[in-house]
Amino acid sequence: MKHTKYPHIFTPLDLGFTVLKNRVLMGSMHTGLEEQKGGYERLAAFYAERAKGQVGLIVTGGISPNRQGWVKPFSSRLTRKSHIKQHQLITKAVHSYEGKICMQILHAGRYGYHPFNVAPSAIKSPITPFKPFALSNRGVENTIKDFIRCAILAKEAGYDGVEVMGSEGYLINQFLVEHTNMREDRWGGSYENRIQFPLEIVRGIREKVGHDFIIIFRLSMLDLIPRGSSWEEIVILAKALEADGVNIINTGIGWHEARVPTIGTMVPRGAFTEITAKMKKEVSIPLVTTNRINAPQKAEEILSAGHADMVSMARPFLADPEIVKKSYEQKEDEINTCIACNQACLDHVFEQKVASCLVNPRACHETIMNIEAVQTAKKIAVVGAGPAGLSFAINAKSRGHEVTLFDAQAEIGGQFNIAKKVPGKEEFYETIRYFNKQLEISEVNVKLNQKVSANDLIGFDEIVVATGVYPRTPAISGVDSHNVVSYIDVLQNKVLVGEKVVILGAGGIGFDVALYLSHQQNEDGFLNKWGVELNGKFRGGLNGEMVDHQPKREITMLQRKSSKMGKGLGKTTGWIHRTELKKRGVKMISGVSYESITENGINIKMGDESSFVPADTIVLCTGQFSNNQLAAELKSKGLNCHVIGGAYQAGDLDAKRAIDQATKLALSI
Ligand code: FAD
Ligand code: NAP
Ligand code: SF4
Repeated sequence: MKHTKYPHIFTPLDLGFTVLKNRVLMGSMHTGLEEQKGGYERLAAFYAERAKGQVGLIVTGGISPNRQGWVKPFSSRLTRKSHIKQHQLITKAVHSYEGKICMQILHAGRYGYHPFNVAPSAIKSPITPFKPFALSNRGVENTIKDFIRCAILAKEAGYDGVEVMGSEGYLINQFLVEHTNMREDRWGGSYENRIQFPLEIVRGIREKVGHDFIIIFRLSMLDLIPRGSSWEEIVILAKALEADGVNIINTGIGWHEARVPTIGTMVPRGAFTEITAKMKKEVSIPLVTTNRINAPQKAEEILSAGHADMVSMARPFLADPEIVKKSYEQKEDEINTCIACNQACLDHVFEQKVASCLVNPRACHETIMNIEAVQTAKKIAVVGAGPAGLSFAINAKSRGHEVTLFDAQAEIGGQFNIAKKVPGKEEFYETIRYFNKQLEISEVNVKLNQKVSANDLIGFDEIVVATGVYPRTPAISGVDSHNVVSYIDVLQNKVLVGEKVVILGAGGIGFDVALYLSHQQNEDGFLNKWGVELNGKFRGGLNGEMVDHQPKREITMLQRKSSKMGKGLGKTTGWIHRTELKKRGVKMISGVSYESITENGINIKMGDESSFVPADTIVLCTGQFSNNQLAAELKSKGLNCHVIGGAYQAGDLDAKRAIDQATKLALSI
């Protein structure tokens, strides 16, 4: 019987020899556990929770077929029979929930962050310091054999199939385009030659693994780099892959070195699916579409429009292992939505840390962060319904404690209510919606519009102070002038902001304020703005015409540090904000000292040189202090409390730290 609300998502996909129970694929994500001691046990628990959550098919993080293919030194590889045992932990765990799982074979090529990396030609990538060795003819043949051996071992380990990573700018992709393949032998030159590398891999795998084993090929639809593949070339390869026995094509978007955002929170949901729809006219095997699909409504819309046969979601499974199950049960309000911030997933991987999730710190920590019912329920007061207080409250309640949550405001969310106003950060609404629903179903006693003092908290067994932060007003002469405003007033639209604006401070909030004040309602759509075309007319999908906007205001950002502006922003997102602001004509000046503020602007010094920056409005984004008045009051009365989130420490605070700290406390109290 058809599902009443999501009939397309919940139609099984019959591949002939096997059937996938629905149209959701959990996309490949490297978690960093692959290289940890005991990491495979943790990975098994991680994937098992997602299989239990009813996902149709899981694809593992990339596993390299040989040493040269490492993403970084000692990355996980599957090259010997002795490696099989650890993979069996994963396959058995997933199969115990009747899930299906394919292993991704990933050869990083010139993206390998190590000195033995190889590529079709010795051309260094702009995102790694190591120049690759060009593979010899024998080297290419051996690499093909390594891919095939890896697939055979994956089958022996119990995987239901493999995904051959041919997208995102990794080795196979490097063979496909002239940008990285300057070879003159049978692996280079004409397009027909350049595609022989992936085709020989696929043919070899199919020959060895038989027909009852899934082969997915991840094929780049839009390289988003100069001299990327043309649409005609991509179609030729897709057809050849189909003829050579690939079961599913997973459509990829953008090389890692592309200067177009492809998964950040500013990318509209499902922004690229039309390119998969274009490919559907060319091949008959199932196609998977991807990028910024984080909700069942969007997935159903894409599938029902015929854009693809399956949708891939990766990060949404970090945020909520039960996203598919909750969609099936039509409990969409209960989904913990991925906000596409990258802060705890991709940024962690780039920092060589284990991945997790800002909104769900249990992700990849399933065996460590256990939610265990309590023997004796305590009466707990939580003050502050920002991300810290909320995470604590719902987790403590889920363990059986009796929780009362207070907030001085009329709505929950704390600073997320300000963050959600920033253009491109609308996903924060989803997190507030999620918390509201969880409070409702777990029956936390919520008391809003209640500013709490120490006397209100007498009689509780435990008190948790999550009162957040308040903004810093720096000691600059004239800072109390009428033209000086705080970021809070600006983002809450409580003040009129003039044509000429100076922003003091360039942390996350300074950047957000600059984006907010320079944003124009009639801006070009996302794709136009970044010069992307989905019509197949341009190589790599880039039309070379990134649109610059007439500045709405004259904005200058200032900071005292001499370092590059936005240095502390996320590794995978900071560059996007910097590029966007530059395109909007925002000036950025580092290494200044603030001398005095006047009616018309600010006097600054750079070294020994003084200058004046005119401004109608000066916005303070100069950091925060902990709001720890209540905690001090409690201490003075001899009442013990736990202090979390911004109230605990304002420096280097972000929601990731606040939620993680709160969740850990709730699981131990
Ligand atoms: P808060 O969110 O400040 O919540 C504290 C709560 O306590 C408030 O609701 C307040 O009303 C209540 N309260 C205080 N005193 C009392 C009292 N006496 N009685 C009752 N209630 C009280 N972080 C990220 O990780 N990523 C981002 O992209 C990001 N973007 C941001 C953008 C903006 C514009 C802003 C302002 C912040 C952003 N942050 C971001 C930071 C993030 O929102 C904070 O780190 C997080 O909200 C801190 O959580 P918290 O629970 O400690 O405090
Ligand atoms: P922040 O990142 O610490 O930046 C504070 C800014 O204020 C800095 O640029 C600092 O630069 C300046 N400053 C500090 N002390 C000052 C003083 N005494 N006088 C003048 N200037 C001073 O903090 P934030 O921008 O307020 O953001 C708060 C938290 O929210 C951050 O920790 C951030 O992680 C989080 N957040 C994250 C994002 C995101 O996208 N990930 C977005 C928004 C907020 P100088 O000292 O060099 O002048
Ligand atoms: Fe999504 Fe942010 Fe969690 Fe990554 S850290 S999965 S982007 S919500």
